[in-house]
Formats: sequence, structure tokens, C-alpha cells
Amino acid sequence: MWKNMGLTGKILVAMALGIALGLFFNLSGLGAEGSFVDTYIVQGLFGIIGKLFVNSLKMLVVPLVLISLICGVCGIGDIRLLGRVGGKTFAIYMMTTALAIATAIGLGSLFGIGTGMTISSDANFEAKEAPPLAEVFANIIPSNPISAMANGDMLSIIFFAILIGISILMVGKPAKGLVQSLELINEVILKMVTIIMNLAPYGVFALLVKAMSELGLGLIGQLLGYVAVLVGSLAFHYFITMMIVLKVFSGLSIKTFLAKMREVQIFAFSTSSSNATIPVTLRTVTKRMGVNNSVASFTVPFGATINMDGTAIMQGTATIFIANIYGIDLGITQYLTVILMSVLASIGTAGVPGVGLIMLSMVFAQVGLPIEGIGLILGVDRLLDMLRTAVNVGGDAAVTTIVAKSEGKMDLAVFGDPNAGTKDVFDGHIDPENEKEFSTVLNDGKMGSDYDVR
Ligand code: ASP
Repeated sequence: MWKNMGLTGKILVAMALGIALGLFFNLSGLGAEGSFVDTYIVQGLFGIIGKLFVNSLKMLVVPLVLISLICGVCGIGDIRLLGRVGGKTFAIYMMTTALAIATAIGLGSLFGIGTGMTISSDANFEAKEAPPLAEVFANIIPSNPISAMANGDMLSIIFFAILIGISILMVGKPAKGLVQSLELINEVILKMVTIIMNLAPYGVFALLVKAMSELGLGLIGQLLGYVAVLVGSLAFHYFITMMIVLKVFSGLSIKTFLAKMREVQIFAFSTSSSNATIPVTLRTVTKRMGVNNSVASFTVPFGATINMDGTAIMQGTATIFIANIYGIDLGITQYLTVILMSVLASIGTAGVPGVGLIMLSMVFAQVGLPIEGIGLILGVDRLLDMLRTAVNVGGDAAVTTIVAKSEGKMDLAVFGDPNAGTKDVFDGHIDPENEKEFSTVLNDGKMGSDYDVR
């Protein structure tokens, strides 16, 4: 049965089994810190498998973003489109983030979460420094592109790739061979994504066993109001607000979009990182939804860096919750400041696990809420990080399709085809024809020319 199941089905089953086994270890006490199960199975076996899986995704992020974006710029057809796509994408990302945080503040206030609650926390929260926004802007142009790539500085990589693409276009015809080679490299990297996606059921299973065994659900009970409003706001934003935005601005089918996004969201959920999910998001929007690479190669990494609706929702909910617990009245100007700060904070911080808390401390500092209050929600944050990352990548993909559709850069037949992009699987089998042909090339230097790599 497992053999005949589609990849999405396998990943879903792996996710459910991972959560169940992890919770079993946690609730039964078998996975208690330092126990045999914890040391050798959870941290040992599953810890290593999970880490290998996340590393294999991260490994592809920088090469994929660089190469696909150079190809994207070369293939855009009209360079003026680049500026328009950039401006439009930025505006929609900011608008949807502001909507997200407004939803959270609205629902948080409606339910009055945290009022009359006294809870103490022994968790100490030390706020890490977030990069100052001026520095973020100044560093968009990298002084050393190699170190920008080594550090995974997404905005710098995006800038560098666009510059290369524009310069290739300026060289013109003589660079045709270069562009074709880059396209092939891009296809090769996407094949690597395919290989990793086929291993995803095992990776997702391992990551979720480890996460659930460590975190359990115990603390959720104590912070039920906060967790419930946060989860409700996340669901409301993704399933209602974003889907209305998608329908109104693109007219695309909500059902198809949600179905094709399932895998991406499970990846985001189990890795807690929009950045690590970039390869899967990019593959899904291009191969499964029909978005042209010239749009997606820019909007997806850009979104993973600056667009974090789920994180903004957490910030809104946490602001209301902590303010109520400390009995601090926030006025309308402070709410507006929270919205503005969250939107700005999301620009400066990359989509990696736990970064939302760093951004939250920036917001708190601005409106005068006690930073140590963040310690109160620390215990459940890791779990909620998983959920909000799924919403973050959902927003990136929705805006990508909206922008692509509005620019006529979308293949609607691919979007409408439920099986698009699902045939490309890796089962360890390599076409013997290909093997023969390559061995001939290496032996006598000749190769047939027109390969269809797709
Ligand atoms: N983990 C989130 C992401 O990668 C960011 C956060 O909210 O901490 O998108």
C-alpha cells in the first residue's frame, strides 16, 4: 500500500505517525530527558535523520536561489517587468502582513486573552539583538558576494543574482550559451530537490517524533487562551483572509491552491524555517502551479525573507496577551506602532526557526512592554513556530501566484492539472539510455545535442 501511495499521501501519513509516536514518548515518560529512548532513539536516531534532512534542504537554498533568479531575469522578456513585479510583490507582502497582525490584535482584544491572569515563569528570556533596519538596507548590496552566499544573506543574494541577470541581457546574443547552461544547472538543482522530496516522508517523520517528544502538549494547557487565539488567528488569516485576497486578485481556484500547497506546508511545519523550505516552495509554484520561473525565482526567496504573516500574527497576539497580564493599557497609537514595527521587523529578519521572538522583542521595546514578559510564552513558542511557519510560506506562495497571474506569467493548464509536477519522482532508477549516452561522451567526446531534461 505504501508503495502505491502518492508522495503527498506518504508525507501526510509520516506526519501523523511522527506526531503520534513523539507524543507517545512524551506522555508515557519514555522519552524523558536523559532516558535511553531520549538519548539513543529521539536525539540519536531521529535527531540525526532529521538534521540530515534539514541540511539537505538548506544545502540547495543558496545555489537554487542564485541560479534560478539569474535564469528568471534572463527569461523575463521585458526588463521593465522586473521593477513592476518587485514593487507589486513588496506592496502585497506588506499589505497582507498588516492584515495578519490586525486580525491577531482584533481577535486577541475580542477575547481579552491574559486579562486577570497571573502566571509566573521561570524561563528567562534574553533578547537577542535584531539587525538594525538601516544596516539591513545598506547590506542589500554585498561587499563580498561569496560571503553573502556563505552566510545565506538572502537579500544580498537576490540583488547579486538580478545584477548578473541584467548584465547577461546586456551582453546579449553571445551569452546565449551561458544562459542555456544556467538553465540546465537550474534543472539539475531542481532534480536534487526532487530526490530530497522523495525522502521527505522519513525526514518529516524523524523531525516530528523529535519535536513532539521534546515539547509535548503540557504547557499548552497553562497558556490555553493565548494558544487558542493564536491558532485561530493563523487559521483565519490563511484560510479566510488570504484565500479571499487570492480569489479577488487572481480568480484562481482556492481548492486547487490549498491542495497543491499541502506538501510545502508540511515541510515548513516540520522544519520551522521558511528559508529551508524555499526549494520546495519554488518547485511547487513553478512545476505544480504553473508560475513562470521569472516571477517565482524572485518572489519566493524575497517572501521567505520579508513576508511573515504567521510571525506577525504571533506578535500581535503576544502583545495583547502580555499587555493584559501586566495590566498595561495600550492606546490606538501603540497598536498602530505594533503593526508598523511588526511589518518593519519582518523585513530585517530571515525565515529561520525562532526568529519571531527576536522580532517580538523589537516590537515590545518600541511600545514599552516588558521584554521579560516574552519568557511567559517561551515554553509554547517552539511548537507555535511550526504552525506560523506554515502560514508564512502559504502567504509567499499565494502572493507569488497573484503577481504571476496579474502579469500573465502563469500557465493555467498546469495550475488546473491535479497531477502536474507529481510524475517527477526519484525511485533510485536512472535511465540506462542516459547512462550509455554519457559514457559515450566521456569516452569519445560526442553527445547528441537536444536533451529534453524535463
Ligand atoms: N520560523 C519562522 C520562519 O521561518 C520565523 C519565526 O516566526 O520565527 O518563517
